[in-house]
Amino acid sequence: MDFHCHLDLYPNARQVYAETLKKNEFTWLVTTSPKAYEATSRILLPSERLVVSPGLHPEVADRKAEELDILLSQLQTVMAVGEVGLDGSAKYKESYALQHRIFTAVVSNCAALGGRILSVHSRAAANEVLNCFEMHSDFGLAVLHWFTDSPSILRRAASLGCWFSVGPAMLSSVNGRNLASLMPRDRVVPESDGPFGKIAGLALMPWDAANIAIALSALWKLPSDEVINMLRINGETLISLMSKNINGEV
Ligand code: MN
Repeated sequence: MDFHCHLDLYPNARQVYAETLKKNEFTWLVTTSPKAYEATSRILLPSERLVVSPGLHPEVADRKAEELDILLSQLQTVMAVGEVGLDGSAKYKESYALQHRIFTAVVSNCAALGGRILSVHSRAAANEVLNCFEMHSDFGLAVLHWFTDSPSILRRAASLGCWFSVGPAMLSSVNGRNLASLMPRDRVVPESDGPFGKIAGLALMPWDAANIAIALSALWKLPSDEVINMLRINGETLISLMSKNINGEV
C-alpha cells in the first residue's frame, strides 16, 4: 500500500501505473493541481484499489492559484483530497500568504461539506497547518505526509487526531526516524512520495512504500511481521474512511 505518491509524474507513468496495480493492494495518487487531477483521472483510471485525488500543492500555489475554484467544486464529488498544505520554507516564502488563503479555503470547504480525508504537506509550517484544522474542526481527517517538524508539534498533531504517512526517504534521516518512533502506531501508513521521494538518488516506486516496515520494526522494537500487520490494519481503516460516499455512508 502507498498512501501518497505522484504516479502521474513519473516519466513512464502508464507503465508505472500498470506495475503498481499488479504489485500494490492500494495506492493513493495525489495530484498537484485541479487540472492535473482532471487529466490524470482520465488517463490513469481510478479504481477501488487506486484513488486519484484533486489537490493544489503549496509549491505551485503562485502558478495555480486561479484553479482554486475548480478545486473547490471538485471537493464536492470526492472523499480524498490532496496534495494540499502549506510550505513555510524560505524558497516559497513569497507565496506563503497565497498558500494560506488557498489552504484555508480548502479546509473550510471540507468542513462545510461534512468532512474529507486530506493528504497534507506541512514543511516548515506544521503549526499553522494544525491551527487551520483547529479553526475548522469538522474538516475531516488529515494524513500528514513526510512530517519533518519537532516532537512537540508531532504531539500536538497526534492530539488533534492526525494520521501520518511515512516513507523510506523520511526514515533515511535521523530526525525522520526519531519522529516516526514517536508517532501513534495505530495512525501510521506507508507512502513513497515517488518520484520525489528518493533513496540514493533513485526515485522510489509506489511498491517501495512497504519497505518502511523493516525500519519501523527496529524503531518500535517490534517483530517485523507484527509491524506489517499493524500497517495493514491502519491502511484498511483509512481506506474504509476514504471509501465512504460523500453523504457519509459506507
Ligand atoms: Mn508529495
